Amino acid sequence: MSIDLVSSTDPRFPELNRGRASGLFPTPQESAAAIALCPTADDVAQALEQTLHAGKRPTILSGGHCYEGFVFNNPGGTIIDVRPMAGVTQDPTTKRWKIESGATVSEMYLAMYNAGYTIPAISCTNTVGVGGSISGGAYGYMSRLMGIAPDWVTAVDILTVDAKGKVQLRHADKSNDPDLLRACRGSGGGQYGIVTAFYCDTLPAAPKEKLSGRVSFDWGNMTPERLYRILYLYSNYFDTRGRDPDTWGLFTILDLSPVDPARPGRFGMSLEFCNPDGTAQDTKVLDEFFAVFDECKPVSELAHHPSMPGADHRPDPSGPGEIVCLATHNAMLRPFSNSIGIAQRPANAPGGPSAARVPASGPPRLPRKQKYKSAYMRKPYTKEEAAVLFKYMTDGNQYGRGVSVAMDSFGGAASKPGLLESTSDAHRDSIIKMQFITGWTDAADDKPRAEWFDRFYTDLWSASSNGKHSGTPYFSDRHEGCYINYPDSDMLKYSYWPQLYWGNGKLYPFLQHVKKKYDPSNVFHHSMSVRA
Ligand SMILES: Cc1cc2nc3c(=O)[nH]c(=O)nc-3n(C[C@H](O)[C@H](O)[C@H](O)COP(=O)(O)OP(=O)(O)OC[C@H]3O[C@@H](n4cnc5c(N)ncnc54)[C@H](O)[C@@H]3O)c2cc1C
Repeated sequence: MSIDLVSSTDPRFPELNRGRASGLFPTPQESAAAIALCPTADDVAQALEQTLHAGKRPTILSGGHCYEGFVFNNPGGTIIDVRPMAGVTQDPTTKRWKIESGATVSEMYLAMYNAGYTIPAISCTNTVGVGGSISGGAYGYMSRLMGIAPDWVTAVDILTVDAKGKVQLRHADKSNDPDLLRACRGSGGGQYGIVTAFYCDTLPAAPKEKLSGRVSFDWGNMTPERLYRILYLYSNYFDTRGRDPDTWGLFTILDLSPVDPARPGRFGMSLEFCNPDGTAQDTKVLDEFFAVFDECKPVSELAHHPSMPGADHRPDPSGPGEIVCLATHNAMLRPFSNSIGIAQRPANAPGGPSAARVPASGPPRLPRKQKYKSAYMRKPYTKEEAAVLFKYMTDGNQYGRGVSVAMDSFGGAASKPGLLESTSDAHRDSIIKMQFITGWTDAADDKPRAEWFDRFYTDLWSASSNGKHSGTPYFSDRHEGCYINYPDSDMLKYSYWPQLYWGNGKLYPFLQHVKKKYDPSNVFHHSMSVRA
């Protein structure tokens, strides 16, 4: 095995030099000069040494799903692509898992599932990479039951660069460089070094089955008061009953999209459920949750439509299942493997989880631009917040088209005591994690759409916070900032943007210390990396 250095004249370059899902294309001014495909950790070390020796900047590519230009905005530099390094193995003696950082989340799920285990990571599987997602706090439909992926990481292999420019391979665990290990558990990729592998001493057992379902509400007769009631009931459940461990196997996404006033349509809530023992035959918790919304008259839909805005961020609803009639709604009972999207895609099948992970050559695709924002809620939605959501969802503005506001249930096992101190994810007391997505293709829309999106977000958080941090979900008794794996460069306009992502406590100073210690020359940086 050796490094495959793909230069800008190589026919594979245009396809490799782009974000996989965000449609992020570097401009010629931003573009790297080469991409080093590395099949082994030694190759990664060598590619890093060569890059530094040539006086170029390295950026790191795993799945390529980053929402901002942290990887591809690297003028004249080298992208170190770890995707060819994708083993996910369990040591037969120690039972410890080693996950190479170029694996996709699907590959990781499949290998673990085949041995009877899982990890609470990304909800939509496929090509999202392990390297970026676990480094930045990967969470998903198992997180209320099992925590976030970094909670299970007990060691990493990481290449750092010392003050003299020498590349060092470190195995960071609880005895060696424990501060570096903690920083790699959720604070965001691309800022301390290149992780070549993650290790997990233990993993949770894979559930046997899941119930998935969806109910929807009519926009046609909606009022600000009715929307508030739905959002209140939803968020209040997770602030009250949802704190009980017997409910932690319930994961939900309530999503709003701006409506066409002439054809209002519906908005819905998707969910995945199993009991803490991994079975879903006893539906008491789910029936009880559905009953919370009886007064709002939801209708059963079973699954979201694949064309809805943000559908690629939802659990895969396809695959065989059995319709189950619950007390008031229907749900689909499916083996757990279906709900993580691997049963239909065995590893060796064409188009299986490993397909297209390192794309071959091909014509550049139409740039579909996307922009994302995020927020964490510690408390139920207020009337003022619901009123802003209602206004922006119903005013018929053309730049609202293609927008999705997802409100994912959170907390549960992700809020267990001690995790704030042992990992570097600061959001340990939230009940809802929000993702805002907008997508478009017409370049003429770039500016007005970005402005609409930012105004909506700012108005929403001006409704409920005031003073210095108005317009943001700054850490308070109601909010817990933003998610670094949904990075949003608009937040850089706030002097306190690091506190939005890493909190206003001791975590950010700790990360600054780690950054200074292990990356003294700031080799690994991007627009939103820790400032030392
Ligand atoms: C369609 C879609 C669905 C998503 N769903 C979820 C979800 O359900 N849950 C969730 O939590 N997030 C989700 N995300 C967000 C996702 O977690 C982040 O975009 C994540 O950073 C992607 O990781 P990546 O390796 O694919 O991306 P990349 O673009 O390769 O990397 C992202 C960042 O990590 C750095 N990095 C990558 N590899 C390494 C490495 N080996 N060592 C050090 N740094 C590295 C990069 O330099 C970059 O800064 C989703 C994103 C998309 C596009």
